[in-house]
Amino acid sequence: MEVAGKKILVVGAALSGVAAARFLAGRGALVTVNDAKPESELEEAAVLRAAGIEIVSGSHPVELFENADLIVASPGVPLALEPFRRARTAEVPIMGEVELAGRFLRGRLVGITGSNGKTTTTALVGELLAQAGLHVQVGGNIGTPLISLVEASRDDGFTVIEASSFQLEAVDQLHFFAATILNITPDHLDRYDSMESYAAAKARIFDNQTADDFAILNADDARVSAMRGLTPARAIFFSRARTLEEGVSLRGDEIVWRRGGEETVLLGRGEIGLRGAHNLENVCAALALGLACGAGVESMRETVRGFKGVEHRLEYVAEVGGVRFYNDSKATNVDAAIKAVEAFEERLVVILGGKDKGGDYAPLARLLGERGAAAILIGAAADKIASAIEAEGGSISVYRASTMQQAVEKGFELSEAGGVVLLAPACASFDMFRNFGHRGRVFKDAVRELERK
Ligand code: ADP
Repeated sequence: MEVAGKKILVVGAALSGVAAARFLAGRGALVTVNDAKPESELEEAAVLRAAGIEIVSGSHPVELFENADLIVASPGVPLALEPFRRARTAEVPIMGEVELAGRFLRGRLVGITGSNGKTTTTALVGELLAQAGLHVQVGGNIGTPLISLVEASRDDGFTVIEASSFQLEAVDQLHFFAATILNITPDHLDRYDSMESYAAAKARIFDNQTADDFAILNADDARVSAMRGLTPARAIFFSRARTLEEGVSLRGDEIVWRRGGEETVLLGRGEIGLRGAHNLENVCAALALGLACGAGVESMRETVRGFKGVEHRLEYVAEVGGVRFYNDSKATNVDAAIKAVEAFEERLVVILGGKDKGGDYAPLARLLGERGAAAILIGAAADKIASAIEAEGGSISVYRASTMQQAVEKGFELSEAGGVVLLAPACASFDMFRNFGHRGRVFKDAVRELERK
């Protein structure tokens, strides 16, 4: 793709937009960055200007969109905005940063999407391939903008990409050698009009695949398995619920890989360091992706044994007075919080709440009721969650806290030695925190504060 001399508009001046703008300017494009925020709030404004990039901020002027040769949209920017509609009418091509990077990245692309488990699986696949001696880079939604990986990419290497549904919506030519949808459960229903349109956005990960590629599908998720028909790629199914005739699944306490009547034991369940049945699912998916890319079984086994997981995902924080604290700040939807609660057999106090995302808290409330867990509610969704618990949660104790510190102290006070205090909010963080990472760090700081007392 030739960009030199082209007028390119990059919409959104966050991490990936800034990286895309700098990349394009470096290749001789005439780049303008547009963001709805005023320039004083754009952290990278000086860096952009120094690279000869123009900045238009505070609004989205339609002329800018209509007159561009190409528009690159950041994942956070809704493509339904009026200026995009006008650009489409003027036949200006619009692509996401992931699509743009896909045009330049060398080697094969491995794509991972799903409602939950993306980051954990992406990080694990990166390690599986690296330790198998393959050249690999990891990026996308996990934090590193893909475009920044172009320079170091190699024809014989792999780029492992965590892709969100927002990034996949804008897919056009992006072609994954191996792609997986881990699961599809209600999430972001404040931004999609139905489960169908949310699932359809994710399914675009299979667009452009050929019979030489691999599709890794969750046999335990009906919506995902039904997507088999959407791709001509070779399918590898995975399951943690039953032993599959073909694919990667659990047989007793072992994860086995079966194909064409042959069986290979990949590893024992007890060798997985991560807690929770959901992580078993992530490991199965990661192993299937590793197999697709040619990683050896022995090396993958070693890697899984040593894999400690990712910060803010069921992360063990500390033990204070016999009470253990776990940070699952990344449980930003109801299903993830359910999976977190299910990962513990101990007596539980769960801290939940935050910015509501339109999910239904009833299944979580029922589970808390069955487990006899106490709940401490924080944030804007506290009332909605309290009503769900009242209706579905039996007679469990519910408390309110106005800060994370209060919530942690209350959790400690309610627990006995051997118990667990779990942060699994089931909500977004933006009502009280900058993001889930900030929320997790505030939680961990509060626990450490408690340790010092
Ligand atoms: P994502 O990147 O999709 O948000 P993460 O790996 O960051 O996924 O995990 C997000 C949250 O979902 C965590 O709270 C984690 O405990 C939970 N989770 C991880 N894997 C799964 C899974 N396979 N199914 C359901 N929940 C999961």
